[in-house]
Amino acid sequence: MQTVPDSVISRLKSALGEGGWSQDPERLAPKLVEWRDRWSGSTPLLALPSSTHAVAAVVGICGEAGVAITPQGGNTGLVGGQIPDGEILLSTERLRRVRDIDLADDVLVAEAGVTLAEAHEAALSAGRRFPLSLASEGSATIGGLISTNAGGTAVLRYGTMRNLVLGIEAVLPNGEIFNGLKRLRKDNTGYDLKQLLIGGEGTLGVVTAASLKLFPILASRAVAIAGCESVDAAVRLLERAKSETGGAVEAFELIGRLGIDLAARHLPGIRQPLDSRPPWSVLIEIAGDASGMAEAAMERLLAAALDEGVITDASLAQNEAQARAFWSLREGQSAAQKPEGPAWKHDVAVPISAIARFIESATVTLRARFPGVRIDAFGHVGDGNIHFDVLSPPGGDFGAHIANRDEGARIVHDLVAQLGGSISAEHGLGTMKTAEAATYKSPVELAAQRAIRAALDPKRIMNPRVLF
Ligand SMILES: Cc1cc2nc3c(=O)[nH]c(=O)nc-3n(C[C@H](O)[C@H](O)[C@H](O)COP(=O)(O)OP(=O)(O)OC[C@H]3O[C@@H](n4cnc5c(N)ncnc54)[C@H](O)[C@@H]3O)c2cc1C
Repeated sequence: MQTVPDSVISRLKSALGEGGWSQDPERLAPKLVEWRDRWSGSTPLLALPSSTHAVAAVVGICGEAGVAITPQGGNTGLVGGQIPDGEILLSTERLRRVRDIDLADDVLVAEAGVTLAEAHEAALSAGRRFPLSLASEGSATIGGLISTNAGGTAVLRYGTMRNLVLGIEAVLPNGEIFNGLKRLRKDNTGYDLKQLLIGGEGTLGVVTAASLKLFPILASRAVAIAGCESVDAAVRLLERAKSETGGAVEAFELIGRLGIDLAARHLPGIRQPLDSRPPWSVLIEIAGDASGMAEAAMERLLAAALDEGVITDASLAQNEAQARAFWSLREGQSAAQKPEGPAWKHDVAVPISAIARFIESATVTLRARFPGVRIDAFGHVGDGNIHFDVLSPPGGDFGAHIANRDEGARIVHDLVAQLGGSISAEHGLGTMKTAEAATYKSPVELAAQRAIRAALDPKRIMNPRVLF
């Protein structure tokens, strides 16, 4: 862990001014632990800059002194990258302005500390929509979403954050401000620095603001849950839904029987959505620009799929409350697991065509090696992104389960690699997966990534324990 000289702390305090920093243990406490208590850390100073220039001052002082910085947004990251271990903690909580909304450019310019929910609200109040959607939207910030290249439930239609950002303003590791807040949909002028910062997990600079793509508000929306006998049937249903709705599928989420049962058992107000309790359920959302379009398309899709035996039954949400209840089932999966004890969590991606093979093989192999473990596989089938979570046998020994986590991860990740997949689909690598990811990346790719980082941050002051 680094020791930060008092002289550097004093320079940072005077650059940030009153209200721009804190060393108060109570103020710091919530920023030093991850929400599940999986990681905790320490910092000699919480920097709270309220402008891009103040961020530049912090990075400049730290750069000169070779002092490391951990940027933090909403602290909802799931791989530990936002928790400092002796670094200066730079929070974006005071970078909170929506700077502009322009309907001709269809763009919203927001500072890094604006939460996703605030960005949604700002877009809606201007008659537009920012489509990124995830359960942590009340806290996750634009800067964090960019730095983790966040995905969520609408990637199938709109892509990840990489597809939704038109421009970025950031402070680079040398303290200079990169004023890349463009609003262009075409810009072919060499390497795209903004794309390096997206998914950079705070290692190539501090994102201070971004221009985000806006979309029209859609007039109709239909949400349903359908039951399938197999994952393969769910994938066939996805194919049919995509081709029959002309690309109007907003979300296509898989949940296994265990996940539904846990949600019904542990989450208040959640009930089994299908009486037949099928082995697999799929939550489908269709949205369209013409009134009634989504409902009609959903009814057609479900009727044809039932006829052909692709699904066994289905329930179409009759109102907004029911649609929300279906979504709570999906978004509450992590919360529903919690009372059951620790879970090995794997956020993986495989080609959509390999999802069924992956779930089947991983389940069989893990159960053979760790008899009785319970598999809660759910996720964004439309993106090939499965959250493959493994719980201990019922009433099992939690300590033993935790002790086996790394071996379990190796089995799952080896299989993912064999199928041409990724061991981090949407959460990033953080401090949790960096070492492991290095074993799956090709030496060529690793060397290129290290060279880029060394060129931009030769002293490795930005989030030094994260990425390669
Ligand atoms: C209930 C729940 C559901 C979730 N669902 C999803 C999901 O569906 N899809 C998904 O992709 N993720 C999901 N996540 C993960 C998380 O919300 C995202 O990773 C989110 O993008 C993190 O944003 P944040 O502002 O909280 O960032 P933090 O957690 O504060 O930071 C995350 C990383 O970004 C860096 N960082 C933060 N701000 C900046 C900045 N301004 N400049 C440079 N680096 C920065 C940090 O150093 C860290 O490495 C979920 C999390 C929770 C708790």
